[in-house]
Amino acid sequence: MNRVFNFNPGPGLLPVEVLQKIQSALLSYGDTGMGILEISHRSKQFERLLNETKLLLAELLEIPTSHEILFVTGGATAQFSMVPMNLLREGKTGNYLVAGIWGDKAYEEAKKFGSAHIAASSKAHRYSEIPKKLILSPNPAYLHITSNNTVEGTQLHTFPDGAPLVCDASSDLLSRPMAVSNFELIYACAQKNIGPTGVTIVIGKRETFADSPSTLPILYSYKTYLDSNSLYNTPPVFAIYGVFEMLQWLKRNGGIQSQQERNRVKAETLYTALDSLPFYRSHAATDDRSLMNIVFSCPTPELDTTFAKEAEAHGLFGLLGHKAHGGIRASIYNAFPVEGVTALVQFMKDFAQKRG
Ligand code: PMP
Repeated sequence: MNRVFNFNPGPGLLPVEVLQKIQSALLSYGDTGMGILEISHRSKQFERLLNETKLLLAELLEIPTSHEILFVTGGATAQFSMVPMNLLREGKTGNYLVAGIWGDKAYEEAKKFGSAHIAASSKAHRYSEIPKKLILSPNPAYLHITSNNTVEGTQLHTFPDGAPLVCDASSDLLSRPMAVSNFELIYACAQKNIGPTGVTIVIGKRETFADSPSTLPILYSYKTYLDSNSLYNTPPVFAIYGVFEMLQWLKRNGGIQSQQERNRVKAETLYTALDSLPFYRSHAATDDRSLMNIVFSCPTPELDTTFAKEAEAHGLFGLLGHKAHGGIRASIYNAFPVEGVTALVQFMKDFAQKRG
């Protein structure tokens, strides 16, 4: 089997043992005699799978009983709209900490549905840092944050307060412990740390979900998902199954705490290399560095392209930065192996020596 080191930012790599479970489930899932792509979402086997997935997620993330888990489609982008549609009311303002392009997109979307306010932004610094000083609007409905800025490689290591917190945790949910009870709502698309693409996990206070305005289109109301156990219409069966297998993998491998330790070691290895090689420029402010996406650049954009191309010849794929940002980005989510990080560090050293 010829598998490369896959640094893609999402969809990202999945562990081989998870892929093997999926492979076998494609032909026959459990005792159904049907493949996972073929079973009914109304079957007792799928309902059991969905409930077990929720239980496993609640156990691993230590989700309190005040909070409920929803499975939604439309990616994290749909949440940019659903959050203000459901939570932003007349006389209140949605506050946004904008520390990356995804946070900016969330803010732009909120403006369509009501009053939105930027509590702080690091746009002027190409989002190289997390602003620490926030100025909230009067009557905040919520404060929206992005816990990990996938494109720019920064991460919140402490969380602000002052308003009910809504968190886009698309690129770091399950990579570190999170005090879920401190959040009004957390959402994350699955295709980075959580499983295959096609499902978005939304975790929030049950009473908040129950309070969605009744005028909303049915599939944009959190209450629809709450009342139907995410089974109002056909859910993304395959993606939910993939999440289940990923959660089992996470549990077998020591849970979130031990992932955090592994993630720290992997990221520190890369940052140490970056700091010791003056050829490269690391993008994120030191205190705000992400453990998931390591963003840096070569002395010129042309060299960035050459770097990513030559890296492929060494089995290192998916390293070119986001088109809106440029540079290089190494995404090293939970499933990414330490050996891949070691191989990248060696390549970085060789490339710097050759081109420096
Ligand atoms: N938020 C963050 C932090 C992301 O990294 C991404 C995707 N890379 C999105 C939102 C958008 O996710 P989706 O493509 O699932 O809509």
